[in-house]
Amino acid sequence: MADIVGHAEYEFDLSGGNLCLDFANTVNRRQDPDGATDHINCHGDLVSFAEQCELISPEQGNDLRAHAARERSRANRAFRKSLILRESLFRAFSAIAAGNSVEQPDLRRIEGAALEALRHRTLSGHRDNYQWEWKSEPGAKDQFDRILWPIAQSAAELLTSGKLDAVRQCEAATCAWLFLDESRNHSRRWCDMSICGNREKARRHYQRKHR
Ligand SMILES: [Zn+2]
Repeated sequence: MADIVGHAEYEFDLSGGNLCLDFANTVNRRQDPDGATDHINCHGDLVSFAEQCELISPEQGNDLRAHAARERSRANRAFRKSLILRESLFRAFSAIAAGNSVEQPDLRRIEGAALEALRHRTLSGHRDNYQWEWKSEPGAKDQFDRILWPIAQSAAELLTSGKLDAVRQCEAATCAWLFLDESRNHSRRWCDMSICGNREKARRHYQRKHR
């Protein structure tokens, strides 16, 4: 069984341009027949992802890790729930990038997660400055799910943003990462030119030479 602490040293790639896409991209080389690498292998990995995205502070992250060490089954449940949501996000935005509709089960799952997130929002502030915050007490029953709330919210916001024509999927043969193409002439084809772009150019060059 995966350890609960995670591998804090792993640096997640956050180049998707949107939180929910970055979360969907936590699997490297999804379509590689030699094996994809999943970087969310336990609740601790989820906490590291949330810290790197600044969804939670390092103090909140340490709190969550300490609580997870004491409440392993709850933390594991939240971890499994996060993977189910992630796969729905991946399928949903892959479909959109391909010009298709999101399948109903995935749409309903994202809706459910976004509604759950809404229930945990609270308005706070004073005088002329108010903001939405997440309502989560350290030690609360749902504390391990808190990382999923902003992710679900970002997915619901992206789906309703009117910007879905900017959702793209990396064209490299095995990558499948999702990103928002915010280039001026909508010409971005790879998640990262220095990785997939160059690899793909080398591959096509090789194919031309050895045809
Ligand atoms: Zn790529």
